[in-house]
Amino acid sequence: MSEPRIKYRINLKKIEQLSVSQRTELLPVAQKFKFRANDYYLSLINWDDPDDPIRRIVIPQEGELEPFGRLDASNEESNYVAAGCQHKYKDTALLLCNEVCGAYCRFCFRKRLFQDNNHEVLYDVTPGIEYIAAHPEISNVLLTGGDPLMLKTEQLEDIISRLREIDHVSIIRLGSKIPAFNPYRIINDPKLLALFKKYSTREKRIYVMAHFNHPNELTEVSREGLDLLMQAGVITVNQTPIIGGLNDSPEILAELMNKLSYAGVPPYYFFQCRPTEGNAPFDIPLVKTFRVIEEAKRLVSGLAKRIRFVMSHELGKIEMVGLTDQHIYLRFHRARYSADEGRFMIFQRNDQAFWLDDLSPVNEIPVSVSEYCLQAS
Ligand code: SF4
Repeated sequence: MSEPRIKYRINLKKIEQLSVSQRTELLPVAQKFKFRANDYYLSLINWDDPDDPIRRIVIPQEGELEPFGRLDASNEESNYVAAGCQHKYKDTALLLCNEVCGAYCRFCFRKRLFQDNNHEVLYDVTPGIEYIAAHPEISNVLLTGGDPLMLKTEQLEDIISRLREIDHVSIIRLGSKIPAFNPYRIINDPKLLALFKKYSTREKRIYVMAHFNHPNELTEVSREGLDLLMQAGVITVNQTPIIGGLNDSPEILAELMNKLSYAGVPPYYFFQCRPTEGNAPFDIPLVKTFRVIEEAKRLVSGLAKRIRFVMSHELGKIEMVGLTDQHIYLRFHRARYSADEGRFMIFQRNDQAFWLDDLSPVNEIPVSVSEYCLQAS
């Protein structure tokens, strides 16, 4: 595939496809929540369509200035155990190794990282690596940020090779939207692919947690990038929030799930959009999200149906597993505190609720699913 040189765009005033008045109107939004895009990704937009999905992902909108949510909706601040390193679930640590992405999603849950006064990201990940080496219970490390694939390949190799020296780290994951934002980063860097080939081994794989939100992002070029990752021994899965006006229709979601699974990228998580500041135009209530997902699941094959719908809450990954006229049923899929592991919870149905904190519990049936099973047998 031929290689265009991808230019990054950070100045909204220079996005000529927007009218002068649009640029002026949206400038205060971009001043509050940074704008960033690139030529490849912008080329996917149909500028005649004001509701174009790619446009909704990266172009600022006035509604972002409405009061809504908190900057750190899942209280990630409480997860830091060393500079640049979060440890919330026993077996998994996060290294925040970069504070830029190939573009900025308007609904980003970590948009605080892009603000000039934020210092959560550490380019020198040594303190985090030392912490991980000293904690044998950590078998999974997620490189995140920002986007680790925005690092130079040499920087990435430095981090990955140091992690591979730690025996108890088996899985290295890269949370990345580069396969959607700029597949040429993968296609045009043989050294990156060689790095993956070297460190993604039969015993210890590297995973890319991709972030395709809409089927329009699955272009021929992005499929080539995904294919090269696969050939380099990387396992790629996909996770996406459900975003109002973007992918909150069963048909669009089913198309996304089907196309991903056809390309060999299993859909892994659907996330409830976090109530993050600036997300008023994007967040939709839990009940609506659940119904859209359940409808979409009827339209896809078993491989795509494995996906789970979760809230990345401060207390853990909480899966929504059921809905009746009166109740919402939730279960801890991952828990911050071991006593919550598998805990099943029933809440009063509330069609306006966006987050766990908006729900009122009916009761909590026995402490954990395992305990429940014991009692039932
Ligand atoms: S790719 Fe992820 S971290 Fe980067 S802007 Fe989008 S949601 Fe935020």
